[in-house]
Amino acid sequence: LSERLTGVFDQITGRGSLSEKDVDAALREIRVALLEADVALPAVKDFVKRVREKAVGEDVIRAVAPGQQVVKIVHDELVHLLGGEGEPEGLHLEGEPPVAILMAGLQGSGKTTTSAKLAKRITETQRKKVLVASLDTRRPAAMEQLAQMAERAGVASLPIVKGQSAVEIAKRAMSAGRLQGYDVVILDTAGRTSIDEEMMGEAAKIAEIARPRETLLVADALTGQDAVETARRFDERLKLTGLVLTRMDGDGRGGAALSMRWVTGLPIKFLGTSEKIDGLDAFDAKRLAGRILGRGDIVSLVEKASADVDQDKAEKLARKMAKGKFDLEDMRDQLKQLQKMGGLSGIMGFLPGMNKAMKGQMASAGFDDTMLKRQEAIILSMTPAERAKPDLMKASRKRRIAKGAGVEVPDVNKLLKMHRQMADMMKKMGKKGAKGGMPGMPG
Ligand code: GDP
Ligand code: MG
Repeated sequence: LSERLTGVFDQITGRGSLSEKDVDAALREIRVALLEADVALPAVKDFVKRVREKAVGEDVIRAVAPGQQVVKIVHDELVHLLGGEGEPEGLHLEGEPPVAILMAGLQGSGKTTTSAKLAKRITETQRKKVLVASLDTRRPAAMEQLAQMAERAGVASLPIVKGQSAVEIAKRAMSAGRLQGYDVVILDTAGRTSIDEEMMGEAAKIAEIARPRETLLVADALTGQDAVETARRFDERLKLTGLVLTRMDGDGRGGAALSMRWVTGLPIKFLGTSEKIDGLDAFDAKRLAGRILGRGDIVSLVEKASADVDQDKAEKLARKMAKGKFDLEDMRDQLKQLQKMGGLSGIMGFLPGMNKAMKGQMASAGFDDTMLKRQEAIILSMTPAERAKPDLMKASRKRRIAKGAGVEVPDVNKLLKMHRQMADMMKKMGKKGAKGGMPGMPG
């Protein structure tokens, strides 16, 4: 998204407030980006309208590039739409035990996996006694699947009795829950490949018996528009209380989440982030907004950067990078900025220009937060000439520098190697266009 936007936003500079024309141009691009992220059209329209109202006439903040400012407005509105910044709404499990949680959703959406994950999570974080029960009489091995996952997670599961209907199992689960003193009973239902009346009817009956405190719709984040229709239909019949989006570890941008939230108004409660039992995250609106925007958490980075980073230096460095120049003095500036912005680990994940290979390269070069200060000390022990032309460094100079910084010569060598790698990387990023390559650096 931001690559698209850069072009538009480069033209909005130095004016007192964001004009209607500027904002509209930007919003056209945002519209496309949201559609590409699989957000449903009505939701997109509504969203764009809201952002427009907010953005037009807004004072241009001098410290940030106007483009970044609009991205921030878009982002904030996304966060708002997704449920706001506060604590994510957890599960409501108050009431007379056993409290039931009903898991609904299409086949393969991740209900069984999520049931086991939730059971483990509730057991561990709330110290409650949890029982899981599979009501899936459709798929031959479905009940065994849940029982096995529960066992691995160290959670109790209802003994399997063949030949019972889903409704009968639900009754048995609730009475077992009562008799055996469980706080929570998680009911994992059967899904279908698509919604049909029979499934809905069955689910409604189960709900009547178990009177679930939570009815969670489990949906696959990778399914786009269909998810919205699914959510609508389930919500009509089941009085859903929340959404769980699975496969957030996949390539999808999570636009479906936004659409489902928009259509149902339901809180998104959890995100499934792997096939493993611990792969369940509490929902975080800010993080998902960043993902839908396609720039990770670039927005908060912008917030920090605009407050802390010396704009002049950043500009100078951006120009040098574009020319493929990056000396040790630049590296020192860079190290300082990294420290200001929460350290390297806080930033690496979010740089759009930084791919896995580059990250690996930096990690293998021993470039981590604890080293930042030491690196700076080494550079400070060099003369300006040495900083400008690291190639000139001879053994005697290295010894002097090491002594000055209180380190060993291999540390100096390491730093020089790291600098060469960074310079290489900068060159690559510079070639891709210095634009948006690094935070706080205007294109
Ligand atoms: P159900 O039919 O709704 O019960 O779906 P399952 O729980 O059986 O999950 C279907 C498949 O999706 C299984 O292979 C799971 O391992 C996988 N799965 C579920 N949740 C996630 C997730 O959050 N991430 C990934 N990568 N896979 C998941
Ligand atoms: Mg299942």
